[in-house]
Amino acid sequence: MINIFEKFAPRWRNAVARYAKAVWTGSTTKHTDWIYDKQADTFSREYRHAMEKHYADKGMRVYRGTLDGYVNEWLNKQQALKDTLKQVATEKQDNLVKKALEELKDTKDAQKIIDKIYGAKLNEEVYKVFSFKDNFEAFSKQHGDESAFELGTGMNEGIIKQFSDRYFWKTQKDRKVRPTHEMLQGKCFLFADPPTTIDKYGNRHTGNPGTDYGCRCWAERAPEEEKPLRHYTVRESQRHKK
Ligand SMILES: [Zn+2]
Repeated sequence: MINIFEKFAPRWRNAVARYAKAVWTGSTTKHTDWIYDKQADTFSREYRHAMEKHYADKGMRVYRGTLDGYVNEWLNKQQALKDTLKQVATEKQDNLVKKALEELKDTKDAQKIIDKIYGAKLNEEVYKVFSFKDNFEAFSKQHGDESAFELGTGMNEGIIKQFSDRYFWKTQKDRKVRPTHEMLQGKCFLFADPPTTIDKYGNRHTGNPGTDYGCRCWAERAPEEEKPLRHYTVRESQRHKK
């Protein structure tokens, strides 16, 4: 299953980054929108197909239509992501200009640089002074990544639920896994009674894998005889005390 995530996630990350670059440089057109929409559609279709095939090979045949609603919901979210990128890009560029001008206050020769930045802002060419790569690329890639994992873990949950009311919590087992989710790795839960995590800042979340912000964890089917943990809570502060 991790293989499928790893194969598909970068595709959507790159598609989002390409669109974000057009946003940053003020060069979005009907065509860039069309490409983005087309890629979202193809991406979700191929991703879905790969997952259904993965489970079919294990003898778990997914009913047609099981994931329709979820995938459509995801596609709507990717539409909203376009607007989010536009808003965030505008805010970021405004702040970059503001900050740069403030920093220049006590600089000799400031006028020349001020003219450059201010001129760029007036002509909506801020991107020529503040590059996409340095200021927006990482943000857009992270969002593309998170969206891709959200689609993957969500479709996975939809499939598993069709066969079982319980699952094993699985992490991606890399450095990015948050400590509280490391504590859940391999444990069995009911979809109807997911665990609660409390991080070191006191943030609390109750939910199945992939539902917390930026979470890339996923559910693996657990057999009926596996005993699930009920009303389970993990605290990051307790991590090393056990
Ligand atoms: Zn996680």
